[in-house]
Amino acid sequence: MSFTLHGIGVSSGIAIGRAHLLSHAELEVAHYTITPAAVAAEQARLDDAIRTASEELTILADNIPANSPPEVEGFLNLHRMILSDVTLSQVPKEVIATQLCNAEWALSQQAEQLIEQFERIEDDYLRERKTDVVQVVERVLKIMTGQAHAMPQARDDEAGILVAHDLSPADVIVFKKHHYLSFVTDVGGITSHTAILAHSLNIPSIVALHHARQLIRENELLIVDGTNGVVIVDPDPGVLREYELRREEWELERQKLSRLKTTRAATYDGTRVELHANIELPDDVFQAKDNHAAGIGLFRSEFLFLNRDELPDEEEQFEAYRKVAAEMGDRPVTVRTLDIGADKTLNDTARVSPNPALGLRAIRFCLAEPQIFHTQLRAILRASHYGAVRILIPMLSTVYELNQTLHLIDEARKSLDAQGIPYDKSVPIGGMVEVPATALSLPAFARKLDFLSIGTNDLIQYTLAIDRTDDEVAYLYDPLHPAILNLVGSIIRTANKLGKPVAVCGEMAGDVKLTRLLLGMGLRQFSMHPAHLLEVKQQVLKTDLDEVTQLVGRMLKADDPDRINAMLTRMNA
Ligand code: PEP
Ligand code: MG
Repeated sequence: MSFTLHGIGVSSGIAIGRAHLLSHAELEVAHYTITPAAVAAEQARLDDAIRTASEELTILADNIPANSPPEVEGFLNLHRMILSDVTLSQVPKEVIATQLCNAEWALSQQAEQLIEQFERIEDDYLRERKTDVVQVVERVLKIMTGQAHAMPQARDDEAGILVAHDLSPADVIVFKKHHYLSFVTDVGGITSHTAILAHSLNIPSIVALHHARQLIRENELLIVDGTNGVVIVDPDPGVLREYELRREEWELERQKLSRLKTTRAATYDGTRVELHANIELPDDVFQAKDNHAAGIGLFRSEFLFLNRDELPDEEEQFEAYRKVAAEMGDRPVTVRTLDIGADKTLNDTARVSPNPALGLRAIRFCLAEPQIFHTQLRAILRASHYGAVRILIPMLSTVYELNQTLHLIDEARKSLDAQGIPYDKSVPIGGMVEVPATALSLPAFARKLDFLSIGTNDLIQYTLAIDRTDDEVAYLYDPLHPAILNLVGSIIRTANKLGKPVAVCGEMAGDVKLTRLLLGMGLRQFSMHPAHLLEVKQQVLKTDLDEVTQLVGRMLKADDPDRINAMLTRMNA
């Protein structure tokens, strides 16, 4: 019987194939008591299993296939760290001794407590790290219970679709070797590791399907529509034919796209457009290079600071920024200074803001913590000696903040001069336009800056008064709201009039439906997740600039959302 499941599409495209179910050892284990004399042996059994699991992870890490996404190594290291943490390697041994219980039970009890602690964390990214704990504990439990950590074998004649409760980074490595067409999982959010990896594997994938693993049977025919987050189980022949056609179109589209890698990004009439990449960690630079990004338009440096107890020191930061700068050669690398606060908090931050999105965030935090800022500024300036580094200041809302920041950058320069440490004396300094107040008084900021970058994610959040992390108001998040169109349009116009280079580095820049709109507003620099670069380039190449400029002019005068939507559809037709 045919039926449909809905989840979150994390990587677009269509896959059609037979289901291969991945067994899931939940944290359900036998509980039995042991005698005091058996405690040492039980503890040794746990030690052995942890050692074996650690060896397995080391072997996987040493044999990462060359074409694996760079995140895989980081995730394997994270699993090794979780495994060696005392909460899993030592505390369960105490539980065995005090409660006289078997090792599996002690470990799973400890894991449940840890998972509960993770569930209470507000930060989405950190909260989802609980799945890493589950995956690590499952690995150890499987060793203790004698189950191999095996992936189902894809038949040679027909690649399958993997259906799993969840996938760990280690699974993904094995998964690559089997060339599955797609994967679908019951759990995982937009920032889960599964989702992050799906992006870099570039195969249609869906997470958060809830009961797929229970409802789908081995070998059942599946259609996975990653673009719309839909799985069709056992489709009717008519539906199957329709999706086969769509899949062919999608595959042709992908082949055409990869041929665009070396094509110069310019509109139909030859106007140059710069397509840059957004990155979070230094290794992301490889995906940016692979897609021929014209530069790094946004290096979200705060990701170096998250999920750890000690802040990265100047050397560690310098090495991270230097690596990206050296990889990119003469292409610009825009390092955004620490944008901590709101949904991204440091482990040791004692302050709890009553309204974090409006609190001590980004440049406000850095000005309140000048020592942390000084260290980062020195590291970025030092890296500028090794490439075309630029500094970008997030969330500016007053010119006083900008003045103070420029003063602190000067102080950092002087301290390097005093030590004779080389850096690029003319490092460009830019500001993010993310706060409506800044957008509305732009010339005062622009005069003191070398370039501007519009952070549309925050600009929309602050203009429409909707917390971008709150699911319940996500439906209000609308880049086509007339107020947003006018604000973004006026920032670009003002910057162009003042001769200041301006980019968009929020999600709007990577949304192919909005490429023509932004071009028509006068934007010539976009920065986006590297996975979107070629699609956006394709749209740029097909754009008649005069035509879209006229259409956008009319769109900016419209105030009816339906009319705006209809005009956008016409523009993209
Ligand atoms: C933005 O706000 O649009 C932006 C690019 O910054 P972030 O998403 O990191 O806040
Ligand atoms: Mg922002």
